[in-house]
Order: sequence, then C-alpha cells, then structure tokens
Amino acid sequence: MNIHRITHNPKTRSCSLYFIGCNFRCVCCYWKQIYGNVKLRTLKFPTMDEVIGLLKKVNPRSVSILSGDPVPTADYIRLPRVLKEEIGCKVRLLTNGYILPCLDGVTHVSMSIKAADEEVHKRYTGKSNKRCLENLRFVHRNGIELSISSVLIPDLLDKEEIEKVAKLISVVDANIPFRIIGYMKVDGLPYREPDCTELAEAAAVARRYLKNVVFSRSKGEDYSGIIDLFTNNLRR
Ligand code: SF4
Repeated sequence: MNIHRITHNPKTRSCSLYFIGCNFRCVCCYWKQIYGNVKLRTLKFPTMDEVIGLLKKVNPRSVSILSGDPVPTADYIRLPRVLKEEIGCKVRLLTNGYILPCLDGVTHVSMSIKAADEEVHKRYTGKSNKRCLENLRFVHRNGIELSISSVLIPDLLDKEEIEKVAKLISVVDANIPFRIIGYMKVDGLPYREPDCTELAEAAAVARRYLKNVVFSRSKGEDYSGIIDLFTNNLRR
C-alpha cells in the first residue's frame, strides 16, 4: 500500500496511516511541494500484513487513514474492514471525499470540502466537487458518523465560500459538525493566514445554517510524544 508513514501517539492510543499522493492539486497544498520532489520508485511501502503487524505491537484504540486520497487499490478498499477485524480499533477516515474505501469498519468520516461552488472547486483543486458531494450524502445516508471541515484562505477561499459550504451541508443535515480551519502559510505562496477575528466571522456566518461550528488554526497543535512506527522521512 502507498503508505509512506505510520505514527503512534501513546497518549491517545491512536495511530495514523499516511498515504502518499492525492487526486487533487490544491493551490495551497503543503504536501504537493513535498510529493513533487519524491521519486516514488525509491520509496519503501509496507504490505497490508506489515501494517497490521506494526499496529498490533502498539494495540491502538483508533487508527486514522489520512493524507489526500490514495489510489483505490484492492488493499485500500478493504483496509477499514481489515483494521476492524485484526486490530479491533475505531477507524477514522480523513478524506477530500473523492474516493472512498468500502465503509465496512469505518467509524467516522472527516471530510474536507474545499469549495461548494463547482467552478471555484475546479480552480482550487483541479477537480469537480460533484463526486465529493455525492460521497458526503452517501456517508450520511449510511449512518456513519460524519464531520466536515473547510479551510479559510483570505482572498482565495473567503468567508463567502465558507457560507456556501455551510449552506450545502445544512441541506444534508444541520447537525453535522463543521470545522473552519485557518490556512497555514506555505512557503513560496502569496496567501496570508487569517487572523482570529476573520475565523470567528466566518464561523458566525456558518452558524446561520449549522448547529455545531468551531474554528481552529493549525498552529499550536501538540505533536510531542508522537512516535514513528514506519517512515520514509519525506518531511523536511
Ligand atoms: S486534498 Fe489535501 S493532500 Fe490533496 S492536494 Fe488538496 S490539500 Fe493536498
């Protein structure tokens, strides 16, 4: 499987599986710069058995599958079910919504919706949002716990776009939790980070449509104590 890193957080008894590559080309993607310099053939990827073996050693309560959306190989499609059966853990899927694995075994889907407007979405990601929105409705219909996030990027994805996303979610279910994440500066790009006032304003607008809205900034998250169980050392 195209997993380039597996981490373990002993404090929360959780693990994360980082897939390489993504089917989107988001304008402000941090990973895009890293992927561009990677020679895929030189990387070592673990097999399903190796992933399960590494996870069994630390016996996590929850495992997150994240980073973009991987290629829908047979192993990716069955991954949540294998995690549930072999590890007995909760499985969280963090996704842009474009490709879903089989949802058997998935306990929570956290979907990042980049834009509600089709043209804005295409300009920002290179792809239509139709499949993502269909998948959002599919996950909700199947009764899987669902949360949604969007990134606020001043002068690119503004509070007006956040409002459209909130409106769109409310049509599915106004109780779906919605997180507005402040863009974190990526070197070489001209966009600035929003301040707390801008985030709070965007959240206030979203609350006109949704019952559970929070906002956050990527900075300040606590990554201390996180251990690599497997890594290709792609972060520089
Ligand atoms: S969906 Fe995420 S990983 Fe993929 S290009 Fe966009 S920001 Fe990057």
